[in-house]
Amino acid sequence: MRTRRLGKTGLEVSVIGFGGIPIITAPDEEAEQVVRRAYDLGVTLYDTARAYQRSDPTVSASEDKIGRALAPVRDRVVICTKTQATDAAGTRAHLEESLRRLRSDYVDVWMFHSVDRLSTWETIRGPGGALETMVRAREEGKVRFAGISGHRPDLLLDILRDWRFEVVMVPVNIVDRYIYRAEETLLPYCREHEIGVLAMKPLAGGALREQATLALRYCLGQAVTCAVPGMGTLAEVETDAAVGEDPRPLTPEEEEDLWRRGRALGLDFCRQCGYCLPCTAGISIPAVFRLDGYFTRYGQEEWARQQYLALDPQADACAECGECEERCPYRLPIREKLKQAHQRLAGVPG
Ligand code: SF4
Ligand code: SF4
Repeated sequence: MRTRRLGKTGLEVSVIGFGGIPIITAPDEEAEQVVRRAYDLGVTLYDTARAYQRSDPTVSASEDKIGRALAPVRDRVVICTKTQATDAAGTRAHLEESLRRLRSDYVDVWMFHSVDRLSTWETIRGPGGALETMVRAREEGKVRFAGISGHRPDLLLDILRDWRFEVVMVPVNIVDRYIYRAEETLLPYCREHEIGVLAMKPLAGGALREQATLALRYCLGQAVTCAVPGMGTLAEVETDAAVGEDPRPLTPEEEEDLWRRGRALGLDFCRQCGYCLPCTAGISIPAVFRLDGYFTRYGQEEWARQQYLALDPQADACAECGECEERCPYRLPIREKLKQAHQRLAGVPG
């Protein structure tokens, strides 16, 4: 597995990192097997978050699974986790909880999670804000390096000019390129200022999973340190890790091919990030869109229908409150898309 230096942190990390969202739903033993396989194949960077857990307390959080699987090799891996709290006390509570679940007394890179509004950054930066905890935790040795994640390269650029983060995490994939242009704005700035870049959603939230090899090669051809695809199965780990051995950038023909496939997805598809949750009516919004994707893109109509009909509640329970759309970093028209998905998946005439 090739490695790159994570900006001025000086850490050498594998070019393929492990994204810890998909293991949330896997049983403990299976999830830990997947994490250990990634380690065996040379993956040394693991990304998780306090928010990567189900509300069901009997299901282990992503941090638990990663912490247990990597405990024997803790000093040989780089673990990144995140907090969505914005105040000093809430962030402190999250950090202590993350350390406990990760079975570690330090986090390598601790990030503020999904900072997509200027007002969120102003709260973090202001008196009594989360940044105070970040600074103190670094002095205490509980956090080695400070990072920030978000979906808006323009805002992240302003934030990086405002405070000295060492690592940034941002979506880098062929589809988002044409929405946010991180490749032309944020990434050159990070290269110039030696800020480590973790590429979030290199497979566009799983939509490019069938083109994983091309999509990861595209991502690694940009000015990023490490591409961090979500991995939930041994097969996904094998496919993704293999790209870490392949130094070839995409040829113009391959890039055109990938772009053509990305364009076929449209630009308003769900990236499965889950930030729209919780839904007021209890709808599992990403699950509905995932099944709709199987129905419309992968020819799995019957299977998707069966899975959808087992969901409770279904998308027609939407109370139209609009809160999910406020939270979606891609500003998707969720209410309208849910209606369309329900028509398809429940077989309701349009
Ligand atoms: S608009 Fe509908 S889907 Fe969105 S949070 Fe409200 S009830 Fe849930
Ligand atoms: S609807 Fe938006 S916020 Fe919700 S999972 Fe999809 S992309 Fe993420």
